[in-house]
Amino acid sequence: MPEQIKAMLAIRIHETGGVEQLRSEEIPLPAPGAGEVRFTVEAAGLNFIDTYKRSGLYAVPLPHTLGQEAAGVVTAVGAGVTEFRVGDRVASAAAAGAYAAETFAPVTQVVAVPAGVTTRLAAAVMLQGLTAHYLACDTFPLKAGDTALVHAAAGGVGLLLVQIAKQRGARVLATVGTDAKAALAREAGADAVCVYTREDFAAAARAFTGGRGVDVVYDGVGQATFGGSLASLRPRGLLASFGNASGAVPPFAPLLLSQKGSLFFTRPTLAHYIATPAELRARAADLFGWLAAGALRVTMGATFPLAQAAEAHRALEGRATTGKVLLLP
Ligand code: NDP
Repeated sequence: MPEQIKAMLAIRIHETGGVEQLRSEEIPLPAPGAGEVRFTVEAAGLNFIDTYKRSGLYAVPLPHTLGQEAAGVVTAVGAGVTEFRVGDRVASAAAAGAYAAETFAPVTQVVAVPAGVTTRLAAAVMLQGLTAHYLACDTFPLKAGDTALVHAAAGGVGLLLVQIAKQRGARVLATVGTDAKAALAREAGADAVCVYTREDFAAAARAFTGGRGVDVVYDGVGQATFGGSLASLRPRGLLASFGNASGAVPPFAPLLLSQKGSLFFTRPTLAHYIATPAELRARAADLFGWLAAGALRVTMGATFPLAQAAEAHRALEGRATTGKVLLLP
């Protein structure tokens, strides 16, 4: 007999715009489709990408349930799913609507949460942790002695990226907006910290490297830091521009890269670094292993009841958060 369709609370947008577009609504909770896993949302991760989808910077079909990072317990599996069963603890960075009581993800984008990791911690580390992992291990695979500039280092991605970069033996210069955030970046292991709201971070990068410039800049801030990031690099260094917290980087001429020192530029996104189940699970296994061993710490900046998602968005966009922010249905 087909499962009866239940209803659940979800935070949706019908139009793009400001936080006032977030609506708490009852929506149907259907059975999972073929190849899908349905699971409870014990916690949903707040991520900057949620604000891009809300504002319209990244296009989504409307109406849209926000959120793509969640962890919880499997309640149903679709046809063809053999890897997971009802009752398993799972997490995903590619959930279809994590701001809800339950969510769905394709089985290829779901990982099992191991015994040594709480479900809440798994929710906290999936999206920003996998991002920090691919940036440090693959986009520019840091090795001992490399120098890296990490922008917004007290943020969700930032605090994890500093730790993973240090694990790999790099020297890290962190940028942050306030002195309180500077203390967090130092605790995460940054060798030097620049408060870029009042200091010139490109000059700090030169000083940090004896005038040469850093090997790589990890830049999730975007528009506001783009020029300074190019000026921070050594000849043939790499700018990994992975986000737009201050706005999208405007179009530029390739000649600029030549003028600034035959630089490399990449604009990576997580989906292409967890495109296969094998790659996703290998990265998640590293993260969960480091968490269980105490080699990686997630700073829980704040939790909000899911119904207060608008306040959480305001805080994230207002630079008022640090580390991970979770939404609790
Ligand atoms: P964060 O927790 O890092 O929050 C963003 C931080 O950016 C703020 O706290 C603030 O830190 C800094 N910032 C600088 N200028 C601004 C501004 N004008 N408005 C708002 N914030 C500003 O967020 P996330 O960890 O969720 O994401 C960080 C970046 O990484 C985002 O750009 C996000 O889109 C990107 N990202 C990209 C992925 C990818 O695969 N490409 C995947 C995941 C995230 P401070 O006050 O210290 O400057």
